[in-house]
Amino acid sequence: ALQVGHDLGAALMTARALERERRLVADLQRVEDYRSQLVAMLSHELRTPLTVISGNLELLGEADLDPAARRHHEAMRRGTDRMGTVVDDLLLLARVSNPDHPLVALPLDVRRVGREVVALVDSTARAKGVELSLDEPDTPLVVLGDAVELDRLVGNLASNAVKYTGSGGRVAVRFRRAADEVVLTVSDTGIGISEEDQRELFRAFFRSTNPAALRESGTGLGLTTVATIAARHGGRIQVASRLGEGSTFTVSLPASSPVPTSVAPSTEES
Ligand code: ADP
Repeated sequence: ALQVGHDLGAALMTARALERERRLVADLQRVEDYRSQLVAMLSHELRTPLTVISGNLELLGEADLDPAARRHHEAMRRGTDRMGTVVDDLLLLARVSNPDHPLVALPLDVRRVGREVVALVDSTARAKGVELSLDEPDTPLVVLGDAVELDRLVGNLASNAVKYTGSGGRVAVRFRRAADEVVLTVSDTGIGISEEDQRELFRAFFRSTNPAALRESGTGLGLTTVATIAARHGGRIQVASRLGEGSTFTVSLPASSPVPTSVAPSTEES
């Protein structure tokens, strides 16, 4: 009877500990939900007045300003530009993190996304003296996804790679099919990321304390957004890097079979 009592006591204690843990997790989830709702609401509220300020600053810029006023105007413009970037990054992160905003996934060929992104980032790369290349297969690489989100995913990785690579460096964007996945790799020969930083990389607002990285401006929201978009597409992201040598980000997404092209009528007319 003593043994049974003892076992029962132990079981009861385990049950209580589990219940405490369950409540703690639920509390943390509520805090996290509240935090992201607050951020989403705040960025929404900030967007409208910011648009008004930017618009008026632009009009003011066309006026005949004396040199001192011109300098003040320029400082205000830079400040609002910076604020606009932060607010837009926050809004996008809030949108892709919102469980009430489900993913609208359509079949799309990621090679198109790659070409668009590379065309967009290429001028920045050229201006910096960074060689940018795109490598993709001749056949379609189809995933089920949201074109705007995947554009941001590839765009953030490619622009980071260019941003954190100095003159004379190389950035390669590659797409390939591996078993039932579409694999994107973005590699650079840039400043690299320490092992310690690699563990923090996907946390919102994280920015490395590496002076070479801090020379570039940023919000620390780009990679969090990339990881969130990959996760909601059923994919995953990995990083491999060595400080001073470069970094490779790999995103794997579930592949979808290509949309069957309709059988074209025969054109043998001669
Ligand atoms: P940021 O706006 O600061 O670039 P991200 O979330 O995109 O924000 O990246 C977070 C941090 O990760 C950056 O501040 C930088 O230190 C580091 N990082 C991201 N991509 C690279 C890269 N390709 N090479 C080196 N460091 C990188």
